[in-house]
Amino acid sequence: MPLSSDPAATRPPTPGRSRNMAAIKRRDTQPERAIRSLLHAAGKRYRVDVRLQLEGARPRPDIVFTRARVAVFVDGCFWHCCPEHGRQPSVNGGYWGPKLERNVARDRAADEALRAAGWTVVRVWEHEAPEEAKERIIAVLDATTSASRDARTG
Ligand SMILES: [Zn+2]
Repeated sequence: MPLSSDPAATRPPTPGRSRNMAAIKRRDTQPERAIRSLLHAAGKRYRVDVRLQLEGARPRPDIVFTRARVAVFVDGCFWHCCPEHGRQPSVNGGYWGPKLERNVARDRAADEALRAAGWTVVRVWEHEAPEEAKERIIAVLDATTSASRDARTG
């Protein structure tokens, strides 16, 4: 029996939208993995999937630097309403509108709770170049480590 070498040929065509939704929903996203491996290559050690117990929120940042108290979130453009891709008219009404508004409200509450507990929050959009995101995270890490060093010595 001849087998097709093209796996797509054996499947019925998928509507673009549902494929996008599946990609967006995935927990461990591609940009997130790219940023993690860049950080790792830069010698930065972090923890993943740590749920933090804070006053008023239990955020679960995507990348956590425990000692530096830096929490990184890689936010999906759709779920977190990125200003560039998150405001399609079809999304603002009906079912998704209120749901997405709650997501954003939860994000802001998490940011507030983290900052109140002495954490620095870095939010990266999934559309950002992983290399640039990495630079930004490292700059924040360097700033927080030197700040805490100054506080100890001074
Ligand atoms: Zn975006």
